[in-house]
Amino acid sequence: MRILVTGGAGFIGSHLCRRLLADGHEVLSADNYFTGSRKNIHEFLANPRFEALRHDITSPLYVEVDQIYNFACPASPIHYQQDPVQTTKTSVQGAINMLGLAKRTGARILQASTSEVYGDPEVHPQTEAYWGRVNPIGLRGCYDEGKRCAETLFFDYYRQHATDIKVVRIFNTYGPGMQLNDGRVVSNFIVQALRGEDITLYGDGSQTRSFCYVSDLVEGVVRMMNSAPGFTGPVNLGNPVEYSIVEIAEIILDLCRSSSKLTLKALPEDDPRQRQPDIGLAQQQLGWTPSVALVDGLRETIDYFKRMLA
Ligand code: NAD
Ligand code: UDP
Ligand code: UDP
Repeated sequence: MRILVTGGAGFIGSHLCRRLLADGHEVLSADNYFTGSRKNIHEFLANPRFEALRHDITSPLYVEVDQIYNFACPASPIHYQQDPVQTTKTSVQGAINMLGLAKRTGARILQASTSEVYGDPEVHPQTEAYWGRVNPIGLRGCYDEGKRCAETLFFDYYRQHATDIKVVRIFNTYGPGMQLNDGRVVSNFIVQALRGEDITLYGDGSQTRSFCYVSDLVEGVVRMMNSAPGFTGPVNLGNPVEYSIVEIAEIILDLCRSSSKLTLKALPEDDPRQRQPDIGLAQQQLGWTPSVALVDGLRETIDYFKRMLA
């Protein structure tokens, strides 16, 4: 198949490109390199089935493809808050363009949505039926509401134009391929631990997250894309094992054999208190369960950052 991956030079997008190439497909990456890196796709450039396009999805794109994975969007709070108007445009105008492309070509299109659509949740663990608690005017609104509106567009194209859609809600994902300056918790803590710098714990570290290794996530995403017609989702994809952020710091310090100290920083505005996916739907519909334990995934990620820092 001819497959478009928007955000193909990003962290998850580049893993997805690698997987799709290994499966024998033709892969077109469209990325504006805002948070992605040409380094992430360098190894694919020699492959005649791979093509990289510098393109911002807020502009229309006319290509002929069979499937579209819409992954373009900065995902780290520090990056998506740097130019919040552009973040909303990427999610909303970007979704309109990619849905227009899917409508014209008849391609199936999968949206990378997020656990952030649940905001700071009152329901725990989060099921797909939960509508969420998002602050529309807060600092995270550009990302959360942009992604929520993108889901609305996907379901309206489905109802109005019978576009073949799939929506996954991705929970915190980590692994090799993250940028040194990504700013999210796993990469920050590993880089700080390896450099012997203080570990920046926001708030008291009692807030929780559930972390999925990228190979598990990509497997779930590909299964969803190729699931039965009419199964639109949204479906949660994530690892349901939940940790407090201070526990994550301790595990990373231990694995890095680092003597870095914890330093407390202010908790960012609207930082969700807790987050854990209910993955019953993905298990039932996709036969998918993540299999990589946190310490194993962290070891791979630490080795990657050691190579980056060497
Ligand atoms: P990332 O920042 O590494 O990748 C995003 C990619 O999109 C980058 O290569 C960036 O340059 C590109 N991009 C941004 N705006 C663009 C635009 N307007 N046009 C074209 N390209 C653009 O982030 P990631 O962690 O790989 O996330 C990928 C997708 O998965 C995002 O849509 C994100 O919202 C979603 N997601 C990720 C996580 C996670 O934990 N990693 C969780 C939930 C959802
Ligand atoms: N679009 C695109 N590539 C295509 C087809 C459409 O980028 O191959 C864009 C187009 O510019 C339009 C958007 O997708 O702004 C939505 O397309 P749609 O056909 O749904 O709406 P309309 O063209 O009627 O506004
Ligand atoms: N966090 C932290 N120190 C950091 C980066 C993040 O304590 O250097 C915390 C952050 O406040 C949040 C959690 O780790 O509670 C996850 O943050 P991240 O930015 O990775 O993702 P998100 O908040 O979008 O889940």
